[in-house]
Amino acid sequence: MLKKKITDAFEPLATLFFPPHCAHCQTRLEAGRDFCGDCEARIERIKVPRCESCSQPYDCATGEFTCPNCRGEAFYFECAVAVVRSRSLIRDLIHRIKYGKEIWLARVLAQIAAEGLEDSRLEDEEFDALVPVPLHPKRLREREYNQAAVIAENLSRRSGIPVLCALERLRYTTTQTALDRKNRRQNLRNAFSVVKNADVTNKNLLLVDDVLTTGSTLDACAAVLLERGASSVRALTVARG
Ligand SMILES: [Zn+2]
Ligand SMILES: [Zn+2]
Repeated sequence: MLKKKITDAFEPLATLFFPPHCAHCQTRLEAGRDFCGDCEARIERIKVPRCESCSQPYDCATGEFTCPNCRGEAFYFECAVAVVRSRSLIRDLIHRIKYGKEIWLARVLAQIAAEGLEDSRLEDEEFDALVPVPLHPKRLREREYNQAAVIAENLSRRSGIPVLCALERLRYTTTQTALDRKNRRQNLRNAFSVVKNADVTNKNLLLVDDVLTTGSTLDACAAVLLERGASSVRALTVARG
């Protein structure tokens, strides 16, 4: 809490030296905003109706529902909440943080992710830790940071939920195309492991990542955390593909 107060206290000073610009089009802005009106209007937030499990929006659905993709498949996570669609400028921001070394965008993306903490599927949960989806060490060396981890750190600063880097990625790439769905799941699950000294026993965990595509990465991470004694795993991503 004190840490948050100190960060907040210095924010006006930072604004004085770095006047805010739109994170996408660089238009000069008033303090306290990340996007200009035009760019903000292009961000598509995921609203109900959407799948309770994987957040896929379905315009024609009504009320609470689970999409056909999730119906037959019991994911290890309780739900995966995604805040916005991974389209246009959001896709661009995610590309820039991943491949353009623009680590500062973590704050902007965490601000969006923070909206997901108010989602009806997460708002009543007490999380013991935020767990970033890990990168393979080789990819981490290339990229210099794990975008999921820096987003989680920013999210931690606003929410007070600590970050626990509990997972590691053991395999660099997995050629998945030749495998059927069941084997693909097993194959991906073997790519992750809980790090030696991380204690996840009886913890309610929230996985954090930049983008959700099929949910299989989050599912694999949830599986290994539960195997090591976590009591529940949910997931929060900035965007959904
Ligand atoms: Zn703009
Ligand atoms: Zn679904």
